[in-house]
Amino acid sequence: MAKEEWSIADFEIGKFIGEGKFGKVYLAREKQVLFRSGYVVALKVIFKAKLEKYRSHSHLRREIEIQHNLNHSNVLRLFAWFHDETRVFLVLEYAARGELYKVLKSLHHFSEKRTATVRNYVASLAGALAYCHGKHVIHRDIKPENLLLDIEVHISLFNYLIVEGRLKIADFGWAVQSNSKRNTMCGTIDYLAPEMVEKKEHDHAVDNWTLGILCYEFLYGVPPFEAEDEYVTFRRIMKVDLKFPSEPHISAEAKDLISKLLVKDSSKRLSLHKILMHPWIVQNADPSGSCFE
Ligand code: ATP
Ligand code: MG
Repeated sequence: MAKEEWSIADFEIGKFIGEGKFGKVYLAREKQVLFRSGYVVALKVIFKAKLEKYRSHSHLRREIEIQHNLNHSNVLRLFAWFHDETRVFLVLEYAARGELYKVLKSLHHFSEKRTATVRNYVASLAGALAYCHGKHVIHRDIKPENLLLDIEVHISLFNYLIVEGRLKIADFGWAVQSNSKRNTMCGTIDYLAPEMVEKKEHDHAVDNWTLGILCYEFLYGVPPFEAEDEYVTFRRIMKVDLKFPSEPHISAEAKDLISKLLVKDSSKRLSLHKILMHPWIVQNADPSGSCFE
């Protein structure tokens, strides 16, 4: 951040992108060209009244402190933040393709043809989480809604090609920076690790579990322990009631990776480093690059 004090006057506000629980997100252009982001950013406007209503000040402060200190190509950058009388503004990297959730829902699941894309997503996530864990940051709320996609444009002499971009972990609202074990229950039920369901102490290995859940959801279109009733989901998680439907056909190696992440004993889950070396991933994943086939 090259500038000490930001204000809304430093930005031209563009189109409305979306609305969350605490405020709105707009496309914005920084007037003074200081960022390396191509000068276009996503400006998240959070209303102080809403923070007050939900008593979420400390949550937001933690989110800001954590995200501001992370700098990885697969983690959404928080470039700066500022506030006025009524609002808090977060200057975020703009992820033009939006939520991975929407892409996943529109396709239902990523077909066999697109497994290279899934491999890239999983490798990107493993790399980004390894970076976060190295800084003692546990995300605790990895799910498709919190993963954004940017757009990469490849320009050649004769034409240009817009391709699926990189995956970016966003929303550090549930993240913690900690060396020790924690025991707060948080996150979305389908993605909760057994130790969180049981409200036991947990550590960074909860993110490895969630990566297994996501990998399954990418390939099959639904999370593995989904049920009508939350209580049934809890029970299925506790039993690790993992079933692989015959349709769509998924390779044995992909199933092997999922099975090695969805392990009840958190200390026995495949490490992020080993995920990156797993036979299914090394086929052609490129965590530093884009995710197109
Ligand atoms: P919650 O309040 O529970 O976090 P949310 O994630 O939907 O809900 P926001 O994070 O405020 O709320 O985001 C609102 C919308 O804007 C979402 O559709 C989100 O995908 C989109 N969005 C947020 N940040 C960015 C960004 N940096 N680039 C592109 N789109 C974004
Ligand atoms: Mg959000």
